[in-house]
Amino acid sequence: MSQLKAPPATLRLSVDTDALADNWRVLDKMSGAAKAGAAVKADAYGLGVDKCVPALRDAGCQSFFVAHWSEVEAVAKHVPPAWISVLHGVLNEAEMDYACESGACPVINSVEQAKAWNATNGLVCSLMIDTGINRLGISPDEVGVPAIQALEVDVLMSHLASADENSPENARQLGTFNLCSKKIAHKTLSLANSAGIALGADYAFDLTRPGIALYGGVPRAELHGQIKQVAHMQAAIMQTRTLKPGDKVGYNGEFVADQSMPTGVVSLGYADGFLRSRGPGSALLHGEAVLPILGKVSMDMVVIDLTAAPHLKEGGWVEVPFDLPHAARQSSLSQYELLTTLGSRWAHS
Ligand SMILES: *Cc1c(COP(=O)(O)O)cnc(C)c1O
Repeated sequence: MSQLKAPPATLRLSVDTDALADNWRVLDKMSGAAKAGAAVKADAYGLGVDKCVPALRDAGCQSFFVAHWSEVEAVAKHVPPAWISVLHGVLNEAEMDYACESGACPVINSVEQAKAWNATNGLVCSLMIDTGINRLGISPDEVGVPAIQALEVDVLMSHLASADENSPENARQLGTFNLCSKKIAHKTLSLANSAGIALGADYAFDLTRPGIALYGGVPRAELHGQIKQVAHMQAAIMQTRTLKPGDKVGYNGEFVADQSMPTGVVSLGYADGFLRSRGPGSALLHGEAVLPILGKVSMDMVVIDLTAAPHLKEGGWVEVPFDLPHAARQSSLSQYELLTTLGSRWAHS
């Protein structure tokens, strides 16, 4: 078995690294005097660290954010470990040891973590302040605690809860972050994610942390027309058949043919991130031809109407539309969920 090479996959995901690099440059420019970093957690939002990190590095990015320590090694194949920050911080001794040995930078999230980190001889770290999202981070009233003051902070950061909306919370979090920044020594300040960059210069500080918009997401209207699609997907047709009037398609027979029609069974299902909510009213594409989805999406397949492309047969390929804002509206999934649930059966190129 070990010598056997699997045949080519029936699902293809191509990452347009030029578009990715262009998106980073656009976000870096929009960040003004601040430098843009890149959130590359969750395997670069599902698009692949090995593909995305070198492209971002070559475009000029020097700060990379992951969530887990298990994500460091893959990123460190492409950039110096000191360029990598781990957002989940250091939870225990094993993580602390790994942080010291790997040279990646932990984002300290609590007074307890700060105490433990100081005991490692106070290597450089970053510090998260929770200014209102109530996830990770010290609270603003903990800034003066000696263990926090003793940290050697590289990036002092916070995270916006509602940057994708015109919420008064944005200005409130900004105000809190500004106040905290005066009370603790740091090298750089960082607040904005992708949507935060679009909120304007006040939010940019020294370093921005875009994620979703690098990969083609458009979380705010200001970014519309500036961000390019990065992921392009194709799936193979495995079988074709002609339905007769009255034939039902898929689990629970939710689609019933009212006339004779050619259909194709496509190698794409919810295990590949094409969730059931992407079925109703949606379609796959072949060039200009729109191929509506018929019935429920299964785990490994979906059935499409081939009326607009009757020449397509077994072994033919169809495109999976992946304009993120459009797919999010159609499916009520978030642009983030669309990217990060793609699964492992796609052949990346
Ligand atoms: C994921 C993440 C980002 C990137 O956010 P996007 O909305 O994808 O741009 C930035 N900062 C932190 C702390 C994050 O967890």
